[in-house]
Amino acid sequence: MKIISKLEYAKQLLKKHFGYDTFRKGQEAIISNILNGKDSLGIMPTGAGKSICYQIPAIIFDGITIVISPLISLMKDQVDSLNQIGIPSTYINSSLSSKDYLQTMENISLNMYKIIYIAPERLLIDSFLNLLSTLNISMIAVDEAHCISRWGHDFRPSYTEIANVILNLKTRPIVTAFTATATENVKNDIINLLHLDNPFELTTGFDRANLSFIVKNIENRSEFIYEYIKSNLDKSGIIYCLTRKTVDKLYSNLKLLNYSVSRYHAGLSEKERTKNQNDFVYDKTTIMVATNAFGMGIDKSNIRYVIHYNMPKDIESYYQEAGRGGRDGDKAECILLFKRSDIVTNKLLIEQSQSASNHSKDYEKLNEMVDYCNTDKCLRKYILEYFGEKPEFDKCGNCSNCTSDIEVTDITEDSKKILSCIKRMHEGYGLGLVTDVLKGSNTSKIRSMKFDTLSTYGIMNYYSKDTIKDLISYLVTENYLKYVGNQYPILSLNSSAYDVLFKNKTVTIKRKIERIDAKQSNLSEDAIHKQDTDFDNKLFDILRNLRMELSRKYNLPPFIIFADVTLKQMARLYPTSENEMLMINGVGEYKFKEYGEDFLEVIKKYVSENNIDLSEIKQRQINANTNTKNDYSVMSSSAFSDLNNNNIKANLNKTSSKTNKAKKEDTKQISYNLYLQGLSIEEIANERNLVKQTIENHLLECYKEDFEINLDKYIHSEYKEMIFDAFKKVGTDKLKPIKEILPPEVSYFDIKYYLICYLKNSM
Ligand code: ADP
Ligand code: ZN
Repeated sequence: MKIISKLEYAKQLLKKHFGYDTFRKGQEAIISNILNGKDSLGIMPTGAGKSICYQIPAIIFDGITIVISPLISLMKDQVDSLNQIGIPSTYINSSLSSKDYLQTMENISLNMYKIIYIAPERLLIDSFLNLLSTLNISMIAVDEAHCISRWGHDFRPSYTEIANVILNLKTRPIVTAFTATATENVKNDIINLLHLDNPFELTTGFDRANLSFIVKNIENRSEFIYEYIKSNLDKSGIIYCLTRKTVDKLYSNLKLLNYSVSRYHAGLSEKERTKNQNDFVYDKTTIMVATNAFGMGIDKSNIRYVIHYNMPKDIESYYQEAGRGGRDGDKAECILLFKRSDIVTNKLLIEQSQSASNHSKDYEKLNEMVDYCNTDKCLRKYILEYFGEKPEFDKCGNCSNCTSDIEVTDITEDSKKILSCIKRMHEGYGLGLVTDVLKGSNTSKIRSMKFDTLSTYGIMNYYSKDTIKDLISYLVTENYLKYVGNQYPILSLNSSAYDVLFKNKTVTIKRKIERIDAKQSNLSEDAIHKQDTDFDNKLFDILRNLRMELSRKYNLPPFIIFADVTLKQMARLYPTSENEMLMINGVGEYKFKEYGEDFLEVIKKYVSENNIDLSEIKQRQINANTNTKNDYSVMSSSAFSDLNNNNIKANLNKTSSKTNKAKKEDTKQISYNLYLQGLSIEEIANERNLVKQTIENHLLECYKEDFEINLDKYIHSEYKEMIFDAFKKVGTDKLKPIKEILPPEVSYFDIKYYLICYLKNSM
């Protein structure tokens, strides 16, 4: 049996249960310390993946892990998610009926769970403490650990009980603590009050690279919001307002405009709040208009924008609220709409608040918030410095201040293409379809409407769809275009558009516009699907609908079934077999068992109905994994497992004859046929007028792909052990370092051959 390290095992579990291939920054360090029995403190921003840091060790430990969290509203979702992926878990908090409570206590005593979530108040209840003392507890994980400190912004007295409870346990479990916000004072409180024993400390920093920070000082905020929502119709977002009144007003206006919107503030009944929150979390509505009462305990991962209709009271609140965007790691925009009148409103709120003693502190924080709105420095840097970090960059390139001093780019030509395309489509369609036409998407809708015969069809295929959409939205903001129509926003030209089309008016933008590189833009439309930011929108929508159906059927929030990023990857790679599905990030064995077949079925149907050429897509996937310098110069294990997959292999062999790859397939096949006729490598090379190495590579490829082939007589098996040792020393990612530590007489051919054997066996 192969012996593997604990961390290696942890990685296998990450794939098996969560469907992820690698740990994120920080996760690996903290998990290996926990697995080595060390108390640990993780300070990681929202969305960094703190939960996995204690969940994976919890599966590995013999006993039970108790997770203490104040976020009662989150527990059910967290526990549902864990059970979904094969990690038996439960929770105890005040929301349980007495019947459920008793049942859960009994199940716990029967040792039915690996992870138990509890609210800190449980630690004050004797019956629960009695139960705890009978259990084999391996770890206590304290989530939102800043709640233990009076310096923190949400102090919970019951947190101070935790240390006592631990002291009274028969054996002391490992104690771990996690939080997203911790100043030096808070951190010291956590360590001291929890009695952490010489803990491993990890701070991954506060930066959230996938968030764009934008400040806008504009007169008409509602107008901005209407336009913004129109260009982001299918995306989930939160709009924070300072007062209940503003929430109600904005909510009714959006409702009047027929948007899918919910609201949340402390003035609503609890019943209504719960319903509205659920509607938003379950994707039944896409927009949430709320006061800062909303969001604590929401871990909806696919929030694509957080707009602050008003400036909030301090940077802590702002960063916490804005940070609710993009937890899945995908891009999100954090937009703060600032007006000087917000300062007055905030001052009033400070005056009205009870704790008179802290007013001066509150004013100070408010001033820093105003500075954020006025600074012309990098906004990200401003925030990070506020939290005590010393960022190494001056400009992040991803905030409104960094992008505003970027040289202006002339986009007149692109604008003309967009405007004339809309004109040619008789100003009758929305953002999605116009983008598809400009991009040259090959969809049945476009074919049936004959848009593929327009001269503007595919005329902007050198941009990703996102970029095209950005440009169109920019033309809307700049009033060249407007949206008309109520139910479906339809793009229509304003008079200034004609100045661009016919009077040589120039259009500029203060932004870099990224082109897809020239090589790729020559490829066909579906080749461009490969772009990381690009995916098949149609399929994505279909997958989302399926997810929605399943969400209703099992009464689970959609993001618990699969995250948006996971669906996007499916809509990019078109997995059609179990193996391929399991390679998608976010699809583990358990989720596959639960939903895999449903998704496969839909994808297969889509692929066949739309005549999508899978062989090309899968081939590109392989190419993306295998460096093209030399067929074998880089061969990662994952590239190899792609190749080993029967489905892909079958597709590989029927690759369309137009492509270079196909030519290469043919040439390999010819060498193989000659090999079958009994010719030696030299003879094949002579016969074909090719160099020996080329033939060797052809035959190695055949061997790799499990063709009927035996290369024994060409291989120097006496080097085998030496070569395998070299793999262990320098890894198998690159050939050159392997060759360099071996004696010169060991040929690349031998190395490549054994590399294939090695990778085949280590699967
Ligand atoms: P936090 O508690 O730090 O705010 P979560 O634990 O909720 O963050 O994780 C945020 C998101 O990141 C979740 O959707 C989670 O599944 C995902 N995630 C966590 N770790 C990884 C990983 N190693 N690879 C990919 N996604 C991950
Ligand atoms: Zn910046």
